Amino acid sequence: MICERCSDNVHFVEKCEYCGKMVCVNCEKSAKRLKKVTRLVICKDCWGKLSVRKKFKSA
Ligand SMILES: [Zn+2]
Ligand SMILES: [Zn+2]
Repeated sequence: MICERCSDNVHFVEKCEYCGKMVCVNCEKSAKRLKKVTRLVICKDCWGKLSVRKKFKSA
């Protein structure tokens, strides 16, 4: 699979909840569990945007 952020060929990608990109572990800044079933992932790009980061932290 190709990471949509760094274009690396990786085995595992996850969708960033905020920009919708499929990102690899290296591009993932943080992730947390929501309601036990949903995984909330934020990529490094979105983490750099303060408003998005706030949204992630308050989720
Ligand atoms: Zn990547
Ligand atoms: Zn993102």
